[in-house]
Amino acid sequence: MEKNLEIISSLCKRRGFIFPSSEIYGGINGFWDYGPLGSELKRNIRDAWWHFMVQWRNDVVGLDATIIMHPRVWEASGHAAGFADPMVDCKDCKKRYRADQLCEEQGKQLIRDGKNLLLPEGVVCTECGSKNLTQPRSFNLMFKTYVGPVEDDSAAAYLRPETAQAIFAEFLNIVATARKQVPFGVAQSGKSFRNEVNPRNYTFRSREFEQMELEFFIRPDEAVELICGKVTTLADNPDLTGEPQEDWGWEVWHRYWVEQRLTWYRLAGLPQEDLHLYWQTKDELAHYARACVDIEYAFPFGVQELEGIAARSDFDLTQHQKYSGKSMQVQDDRLRLACEAMTPEAKEAFKAKVIADWRARGKDALEAAQFVEDLFLGRYIPHVIEPSAGTDRLALALLCNAYDEEHLTDAKGKEDIRTVLRFAPALAPVKVAVLPLVKNKPELRDKAWKLYADLRRHWKCAWDETGAIGRRYRRQDEVGTPFCVTVDFDTLENDTVTIRLRDSMEQIRLPISEIVSYVDKSLTL
Ligand code: ATP
Repeated sequence: MEKNLEIISSLCKRRGFIFPSSEIYGGINGFWDYGPLGSELKRNIRDAWWHFMVQWRNDVVGLDATIIMHPRVWEASGHAAGFADPMVDCKDCKKRYRADQLCEEQGKQLIRDGKNLLLPEGVVCTECGSKNLTQPRSFNLMFKTYVGPVEDDSAAAYLRPETAQAIFAEFLNIVATARKQVPFGVAQSGKSFRNEVNPRNYTFRSREFEQMELEFFIRPDEAVELICGKVTTLADNPDLTGEPQEDWGWEVWHRYWVEQRLTWYRLAGLPQEDLHLYWQTKDELAHYARACVDIEYAFPFGVQELEGIAARSDFDLTQHQKYSGKSMQVQDDRLRLACEAMTPEAKEAFKAKVIADWRARGKDALEAAQFVEDLFLGRYIPHVIEPSAGTDRLALALLCNAYDEEHLTDAKGKEDIRTVLRFAPALAPVKVAVLPLVKNKPELRDKAWKLYADLRRHWKCAWDETGAIGRRYRRQDEVGTPFCVTVDFDTLENDTVTIRLRDSMEQIRLPISEIVSYVDKSLTL
């Protein structure tokens, strides 16, 4: 069925998933609040990500860092100088655009002239049709603030535009405390802020949003070769579904994480056919990146990015080493032992090969020689694979995917449309609604209320005693509650209840004592 963003956003407002921030004051562009049901949905997404990426693995640990960090972090990362979007203004109607998006919408491409960007011929303001547009100007996306009472440049700080940098900034503390050896990862989810030129598509591009990011540190390929005698590449057809292998090079690790993340999105309920992979071309890649894949989803407004998975080499840690003066090298005992067993001739041959390799890639021979000397001592700066996802974007994708209108005909031939959010039960905001069949029979209501109190200790539950039972089922369908438990007169006799299933509308009879295990079975991702 064709999904309509307006219908979905109006349901989200009406049922308490998503509200415009500060609406009583007219709202604020690019900021959204998650209501009673939206906050549950987001929490479930975050938890499901954490389970899959951290808890179920032995090679990933967590971090919960601050939003404001030392401003040098953003100098080292390149955000202070380069985290900018090109912005264009219409001189007539004053509408502001992101230059690349404006061109793309009109089937054109921004022209790159050295460091400058220029608008191509024929681009017009989509609002008023005017050709009177400014040339693109660079606009830094970081929100600036001041720490302490004095508002001068020495006190300036930024709200983080991504969560990832804190992982690099805390790298040494984590290595010193977590007892993990490379390859291992550090995961973090939390708020990020970007002063987007043009927030749009509902929550898709917001100015305050949440990210779920992993930095997975791996050995440089040269270290893998010294330890294993070879480096497995994608051309070797490695099995990416089993346990990671010691001889994997960066290319295989990168592909492994793409597969892991696709698996997770499918578990979260997004159908394979709506998920797309976009491999960035050489021109699009950041200068330090070796590969970057976007996982995209077919939103009602087009196929757009949910997550980016980048192979970032040792760029980030090297930058922080340079800016902080602290060595970001790790000591790898497997590597040291492997090198100790090598003959001097084998070492020389290896060194010559690496230097030639680096030279061919336009890199410095002296640096290459130092890099190899460090490897022989078991030391290197780890490389990194970064799967970086947006929590709000996924919440929006799940809402769009879950939305369904089912055309029904009842026994009397009457037609009806049932609105239902078909969330994966593990992600549904409410798992079980408890419904007393009638509310004017105290014994029955009490029994139902007690059951509600018991079930609440397991999962988020809802209570609804108003209206006909059919209407109440529909109310729960519309917010995606997978199970309704109805307490009726038979319950008083034999302690059984009716469980009504959201997707099939099937009703089954179960003893109260079996509800928890019955529901729990459906809740694993
Ligand atoms: P875009 O090109 O869409 O601006 P990006 O490529 O700069 O995004 P990344 O820096 O790779 O995005 O951020 C990683 C993830 O964070 C994105 O895949 C997305 O899910 C999320 N994200 C980034 N910017 C926003 C935003 N303004 N609103 C909501 N989510 C965002």
